Amino acid sequence: MNKVIIIGGGIGGAATALALSRAGLEPVVYERTKKLREVGAGIALWANATHILKNLGLLEEAKQVGYLTTNYQFNSQRGKELVNVSLDGFELPVVAIHRAQLHQLLWLHVPGEKFILGETFERFECKGNQVHAYFTSGLKAQGDALIGADGLRSQVRANTPVANLP
Ligand SMILES: Cc1cc2nc3c(=O)[nH]c(=O)nc-3n(C[C@H](O)[C@H](O)[C@H](O)COP(=O)(O)OP(=O)(O)OC[C@H]3O[C@@H](n4cnc5c(N)ncnc54)[C@H](O)[C@@H]3O)c2cc1C
Repeated sequence: MNKVIIIGGGIGGAATALALSRAGLEPVVYERTKKLREVGAGIALWANATHILKNLGLLEEAKQVGYLTTNYQFNSQRGKELVNVSLDGFELPVVAIHRAQLHQLLWLHVPGEKFILGETFERFECKGNQVHAYFTSGLKAQGDALIGADGLRSQVRANTPVANLP
């Protein structure tokens, strides 16, 4: 089975791990925080995101913990309506959900041992058809592929030679 190293256990990393395990691959997520928890407020899952949740078999659960959104409305500070877009034209619903609940929904379906917590990724190198990942703790991991899901200031991206970037 192909082992895929995923750096970062946010919404992106957790969703990727779930999709890869459903596809029969062996993902392992390395997350720098010591505890899996998502902070912040709500997130609007537009039809492209609910399409993914449907494919993962999680759309019904997401609808139960979230809220179906019928309109996207922007008001001015004084309450004057500026934009009001109806969302009923999509094939799938738009769901507003708390980030923590979305994250939990994804984590719950990925086996716990697939998450290695408290490990900060430092760099990677390719040797033959294997990729080696190195962490600040001294931990080394080896896999068939490595995916950077480590957010905006991605250390994986910073570590990728420019010639290899798409
Ligand atoms: C104010 C605001 C509102 C938004 N609203 C919406 C919305 O309504 N709908 C929507 O679809 N999107 C929205 N977004 C965008 C959405 O939040 C992001 O696209 C999404 O959270 C990115 O998830 P991610 O998992 O890719 O990255 P992140 O959430 O940044 O997760 C990255 C993870 O990688 C870990 N990590 C980082 N560096 C390392 C390292 N070196 N080693 C190991 N682990 C590491 C971090 O600890 C973190 O857990 C919004 C964004 C903002 C700022």
